[in-house]
Amino acid sequence: MDALNKKTVEDLEVSGKRVLVRCDFNVPLKDGVITSDKRIVASLPTIKYLIDNNAKVILCSHLGRPKGEFKPEFSLAPVAARLAELLGKEVKMATDVVGESAQALSASLNDGDVMLIENVRFHKEETKNDPEFSKKLADLADLYVNDAFGSAHRAHSSTTGVADYIPAACGYLIQKEISFIGGALANPKRPLVAILGGAKVSDKIGVITNLLDKCDTIIVGGGMAYTFMKSLGYSIGTSLLEEDRVEDAKQMMETAKAKGVNFLIPVDNKVGKEYDPNTEAQIINSDEIPDGWMGLDIGPKTQELFANAIKGSGTVIWNGPMGVSEWENFAQGTIAVATAVAESGAISIIGGGDSAAAVQKLGFADKMSHISTGGGASLEFLEGKELPGIVALNNK
Ligand code: AMP
Repeated sequence: MDALNKKTVEDLEVSGKRVLVRCDFNVPLKDGVITSDKRIVASLPTIKYLIDNNAKVILCSHLGRPKGEFKPEFSLAPVAARLAELLGKEVKMATDVVGESAQALSASLNDGDVMLIENVRFHKEETKNDPEFSKKLADLADLYVNDAFGSAHRAHSSTTGVADYIPAACGYLIQKEISFIGGALANPKRPLVAILGGAKVSDKIGVITNLLDKCDTIIVGGGMAYTFMKSLGYSIGTSLLEEDRVEDAKQMMETAKAKGVNFLIPVDNKVGKEYDPNTEAQIINSDEIPDGWMGLDIGPKTQELFANAIKGSGTVIWNGPMGVSEWENFAQGTIAVATAVAESGAISIIGGGDSAAAVQKLGFADKMSHISTGGGASLEFLEGKELPGIVALNNK
């Protein structure tokens, strides 16, 4: 896999050089105040490496969706302030993206200095991957480092186009994503077990199709499992169903059988009367779901079935909760699976987005080997797609 062969920040001669770093500073803001600085903290290893190695550090990112216009509420200035606190040193803030302010500041940097340019999405050219805009970004620097995995599946100027003009490598965050996800796909410690859950089959068809060629076991839970049950002819009451995916679900299970992949779906469920956290609930076998009831979590027999399949695995890839894990009454299946993964001793890789949030909220974050920083990007990676933000980087 090509992704495993990309240059990293340590392969560049950065001393005395201006290095443009694409970070993911898309932080949650409320009334101009950052409500979580997790993404800023995550970017520190790459930034500190560059400072320690005497680079002139020029940071860039998008924030929200300003739709190609300068809008003060989407300014990165609060990020510069927080980053300065975390680094214990000044972070100079440009008042534009590639204009006079950014150019003058980047030309004035001393070795080890850090600056941040304004939100790249203040220019509509950014999301169009416009070559002229990419060139202007590249002109601010001598070298480019991409550390924004969450945006690596987008071919934008600051994630992709800029690499056409200056040498390009990945930072530590992307390097970790590549080595865990790319490594699990290319050369996994076996058995390789994939656990897929969440609401929609349609979001995960590409992932399952790709993993059918690679995994020893595929486990399907969550709302998407009911489309699989339907394809076996079961009544699923008012559970989530994607009618137009029933045939795909059937096909995937047949392919698994033909390939000798162990394919597991729930054998029992915690069903509720209504889609409500406090709804009346009961445990029901998968082929006995009564009319008017909906599956909102996997049942105890399924927890055991899945836990046994996870035990002894070498690598686990997990994307999507086993039920409505936001609700205490329907979180047990996800907790049971998280416990099994944590106890398995396997290399454990958790997809971004909802799965990462569930694992964090339920208190299992430090028990996992890798929690991806990108939701959409990690899914596309698992689908076997090439991510433009990674493809654009120079090979070793
Ligand atoms: P996704 O974004 O596809 O990973 O889906 C995550 C969402 O799926 C979470 O908000 C869960 O509440 C939801 N979910 C998981 N299982 C079920 C289920 N059985 N019925 C309805 N929603 C579910």
